[in-house]
Amino acid sequence: MSSRSERLQQIAEALLSARSVAVCAHVDPDGDAMGSILGLTHLLRCCGATVTPVLASGVSAPATYRFLPGANEFVPASESPEIDLVVALDAPDPARLGDARDLALGASKLVVIDHHPDNKLYGTLNLVDDRAAATGEIIWELLPYLDCVADKRVATCLYTALMTDTGRFSYGNTTPAALRRAAEMIEHGADAAQLYQHVYESRSPAALALVARTLARLAFANAGRVAYSWIGPEDFIETGALPEETENLIDEIRVVRGVDAVALLKSSHDSVRVSLRAKNGHDVGLVARTLGGGGHSAAAGFTRAGTIESVLAELLALLPSAN
Ligand code: 5GP
Ligand code: MN
Repeated sequence: MSSRSERLQQIAEALLSARSVAVCAHVDPDGDAMGSILGLTHLLRCCGATVTPVLASGVSAPATYRFLPGANEFVPASESPEIDLVVALDAPDPARLGDARDLALGASKLVVIDHHPDNKLYGTLNLVDDRAAATGEIIWELLPYLDCVADKRVATCLYTALMTDTGRFSYGNTTPAALRRAAEMIEHGADAAQLYQHVYESRSPAALALVARTLARLAFANAGRVAYSWIGPEDFIETGALPEETENLIDEIRVVRGVDAVALLKSSHDSVRVSLRAKNGHDVGLVARTLGGGGHSAAAGFTRAGTIESVLAELLALLPSAN
């Protein structure tokens, strides 16, 4: 048996032998975080386990993903029942778990499943594969080892994870393996058209007003090699959009041609959260790590103290310029 299948086997055994499991993921939960938590929750329940889906305290399920089966069952980390095994998903560092970090690091067994290349391997068992398009894809790989059948709910949640982390099957991580697994998920009941509509065609008018502002502020720097835009707290107040409705906002500006990198800066009172996307093979993961964040080479982010102007200056100095 290869070491990978041994690891999958070990994790499956740990999951099946636990009496009670809590499943959590990173703060600012995206489609992969939400889909992976709920997909694994349903999968382990299909196998007979007692499972609690957990979000960091104060974090609620983003409206976009409330259609997912089980999305109304989340328990805040601070109210989690007694558990003997925690699964941390899609989070390269325990600091990304919010207060679910205490739950994870305090558990006697911690299983980490992730696809970030900079994962700190902080679990007692770690399954980290940066070639996987989404954490949800790795969970699907566990199926044959768990010896139970994935139902429509599992397929729906994990397909959502895979669809969102591949940018609707369009980014460079859209591998043959990702597409094969997506096809299997559809065979198990995921409704591709319906899930696409739920995630990408159910936006509020307020969110579209935020898109308009973001596009109106599109600017170029570093001799035209970087495109960026920004939003501030007043934009949320004036449009009525929710902070969680910015999840795919950067996609609106990444469509511009001729740039190597795209940045979206979101300011709050004393810090700026930055999303980065690379085009043409530039490594924005490295840039994000230099500025205290992390992520993949093509999609990364960080949060930094300062203003839009000060953080932008730090960022542009690290991004490609004319030479
Ligand atoms: P997004 O721009 O969609 O928020 O994040 C893009 C990618 O970068 C995601 O894979 C996300 O997990 C990662 N990322 C974003 N912000 C941070 C951060 O502050 N720290 C780390 N380690 N990763 C981040
Ligand atoms: Mn992910």
